[in-house]
This record gives sequence, structure tokens and C-alpha cells, in this order.
Amino acid sequence: PVRVRFAPSPTGPLHIGGVRTALYNYLFARKMGGQMLLRIEDTDQNRFVPGAEEYILEALRWVGIEIDEGQGVGGPHAPYRQSERRDIYQKEAQRLVAEGKAYYAFDTAEELDAMRKRLEEANAPAAQYNSITRLQMSNSLTMKAEEVQARMDAGDPFVIRLKTPRKEEVRLNDLIRGWVNVHSSAIDDKVLLKSDGLPTYHLANIVDDHLMGITHVIRGEEWLPSAPLHVLLYRYLGWEDTMPQFAHLPLLLKPEGNGKLSKRDADLGGFPIFPLQWTDPATGQVAKGFREDGYLPEATVNFLALLGWNPGTEQELFTMDELIASFDIAQVHKAGARFDIQKAQWFNHQYIRQVADDVLAPTVQQQAEAAGYDCSLEKATKIVALLKGRVNFAREIVTEAGTIFNAPTTYDEAITAAKWNDDAVRAVTAFRDALLPFDGEFVADAIKHTLSNAMQQAGIKQGKIMQAMRLALTGTGAGPDLMLTMEIIGKDETIGRLEKALS
Ligand code: GLU
Repeated sequence: PVRVRFAPSPTGPLHIGGVRTALYNYLFARKMGGQMLLRIEDTDQNRFVPGAEEYILEALRWVGIEIDEGQGVGGPHAPYRQSERRDIYQKEAQRLVAEGKAYYAFDTAEELDAMRKRLEEANAPAAQYNSITRLQMSNSLTMKAEEVQARMDAGDPFVIRLKTPRKEEVRLNDLIRGWVNVHSSAIDDKVLLKSDGLPTYHLANIVDDHLMGITHVIRGEEWLPSAPLHVLLYRYLGWEDTMPQFAHLPLLLKPEGNGKLSKRDADLGGFPIFPLQWTDPATGQVAKGFREDGYLPEATVNFLALLGWNPGTEQELFTMDELIASFDIAQVHKAGARFDIQKAQWFNHQYIRQVADDVLAPTVQQQAEAAGYDCSLEKATKIVALLKGRVNFAREIVTEAGTIFNAPTTYDEAITAAKWNDDAVRAVTAFRDALLPFDGEFVADAIKHTLSNAMQQAGIKQGKIMQAMRLALTGTGAGPDLMLTMEIIGKDETIGRLEKALS
């Protein structure tokens, strides 16, 4: 069965690029009837940030990605936090040393610096610690066994490095990018186990993917350069025949397409790039979240899914189930995907209008009262029904309802010049007169009837005076359904506004 994993490092809030990676893993797993794992890659203690793991779990929950196994859920391969699995990695690293595929290296920071300088002066290619340079350094390949033992006994710090082969072809067939070939001389002798006894990302990641039975590694493009090293590690660990398949997802680009989307873009453009708000524990700085900014999780999922993939049809709106049904990893694009915040807002607009009125009403009521308006829940519900199709965010409903809560104090000048004529005055007067004796239920249908009867009796074409009527009631020339607007305003207020316009 297909088993995929999302393997974030808890170094801060999850960027939406990370959420997209999680989402594509999830869609693929569900599509294939497989499982989705969550593993926390926290072996870099210098970069550990408190609260980040909780944030990741909450963000995944918020967008509706369900984890089948792993951190927060449990499962047969627990623990799922790498910092709690150090014995497992140490054992594999020692095995590689015993089999001659890795070695101990004792180099001090000064020795490493000196090597870097030498390489720089010689204009050597980037790979630093490799089959050639290792011969000049302090490691178990250049030292006598007794010396190695003596330094270990003395407590000298050491790392375990991979012994990269000198002339080997490393190939992998990426599900999105096709064949990637690398010569082993381009791979350096990566540290596998650090001097603090913790593994590096590379070792821990490969060991865990193997032990946890991962069949597909779906992750960001920034990991593509590491993939050949990973293939080599599978080979050396003797696991190449069950090596997972790789799929490297395209980068998320800045809105203008000029480079990778970064945290700074969000600060400059004022839009969120994190799913949830994040308060940096070190600085107290708050970064915006989609959730707090008023995005619905359904909208967020929908627009994220389309950043780097589409089913090749015109369809743009997808529920999670529809995404699962249509998703195809082979259709994921190679080119970077431009992050378009306007498109994200458009998606939210599409989803806000689908939310039931009584679900949005309490928030709108609260926001209206906070803005100093008198607003019953019933009134809030009607306002939602009237306006939710006209906004991108729920919070905009109250702003949009300004002409309902407030009688006009000014009247649009252009509309006044164009439409406020004798007919308009006659029409507003006739309508006011028809409303005065009105004693039925003051609802849109009845209001509509009253208006058209009054216009008929006065011999006025309704189409010609509707904008003037709106002007009298709201001060503006355009807006939502006027009959419903009057219903919400109520009879007395409606009559009052008509009279004010006539005065
Ligand atoms: N811990 C890595 C990250 O934070 C995971 C990369 C991978 O999926 O292999 O992105």
C-alpha cells in the first residue's frame, strides 16, 4: 500500500509552501487508498523553536488534512519525533562504519577552515570533504586504529561521515521531473552523525523512511539537490530495492514571479503566508495567518491545491473529496507556481457565499455591535443573506452594511444630478404615502408590491426611478437588493429616510 509522510522540522511556523507539501501528500495518499504519516524532524537542536510542533498539528487540522499515523496520532513505528529515536540512527551509522561505507572524522573547526581556504585558493569545485580531500584530514581512514581509539577514549569530539565513492553514477527517476543523473564526485562526504550524537537530516530521514515503510517521498524542490545523496545512502544501507519513489514539488514564487516566496514578501505585501497566526517566541513579533485574516479552510485548501497542479479542465472550485478524486502526481508542474493573493481572495469569496447565514450571523452581530450598531441576531442573519455574496471576507459584511445601519448624511452627487428630478420626487412621495398606512408584515415581497402599485397609480415607470429611490434610502447609486434592504431597515426607518430625502 502507498505510504507517504509529511516530515516538517519544528523550526518555526509552517509556511504555506509546507502546507501545500502536506496537502499533496494527503491527496496522493487518499487517492491511492494509502496512508499519511506525520514525522517531526527535530534533530537540529539549534533550530528548534518551542511551540512550532503544536502549530504544525493545529495547522494541519485546520486545513482538514487527516493524519493516519505519526506524531499526535501514534502508530506501530512510534516514536515519531526524531529526537527520541537517536539510538536507531546511531546503530545504522555504526553499521556503515563497520562495513567501510562511513568513517569517523575528528577534524577541528580550525582544520576544516584551513581546508576550505585551500580549496578556495585552488578554485576547487564546491564538494569539500570528499574522496580526495579526506586524505589530508583527521579521520579514521587516514589514522591508525590505535590513534582513533585513543582520541575517542580521550573524549575528542567526532562525527561520522559518509564515504562517497569516487566514480559512481547515481540516478533517480523523479515522478515529476523524470531522470536525474549525478556523478558521485559531485557529492561530498556528508556528516551523518553529529558530534552531539544526533543524526543529520539526511541520515535520519532515510533511516526513518525505510523503517516506516514509506513508498513515496513527496517534498519541495529545495530537496532535489539532496536526492542523489539519499539514493547513495539507500544503496549503502542495503535498502535500494525498497527505496521510495521521489516527487519534488515546484517552488512557490513571489506574486510577480521574481524569485521564491519568502516571509519578507508577506511583511511587505501585507498578506499572510502562514496558515495560522504566529507569534515569534523570541521577538514577540506577530506574523499574519490565513485563518485570522478571515480565510475559510476550504478556500485555503482549494487555492493551495492549484498552486502547482491542475486537472487540465476549466474547473476551479474543488472540495477536498473532489481534489482527491482528480489529483494526479504526474500532472504536477515542473515550473514554479506564482502565489497570487488576489486569486486567494477570489476563492474565499466563492466559499464565503456558500456558508449558511446562521453560521456567519453571530460573528457579524458581534462585529456590528463592536462597531457601535444595534443589531439583533435576526437582523444579522438577514444582513448576511443580503451581503455575503458581495464580499471576500466575513468581516467585510459589517462595512458593507454601513448603508443599512446608517441613514444617509450625504447623497452621491453624480447620481443626484442625473436622477433626482421631478419624477423622482413624485415617485418617492407616492411611495412614502403608500407606506404610511401599510400594516402587514414588512417583508421584501410586500414592499415590492406596495412600490409597484404606488408607481402604477402615479403613472410612473418604475425602471426609471429605482436609482433615485435607492439614492433616497441609502445615499448611493448601487448596492444590494433594495426590497430586502428596506425589510432589514424596517418600516419606520424606511419612511423616515424617504422623508429626509424629500426635505
Ligand atoms: N525535515 C525536512 C523539511 O523540513 C523534510 C524534507 C523531506 O521531506 O525529506 O522540509
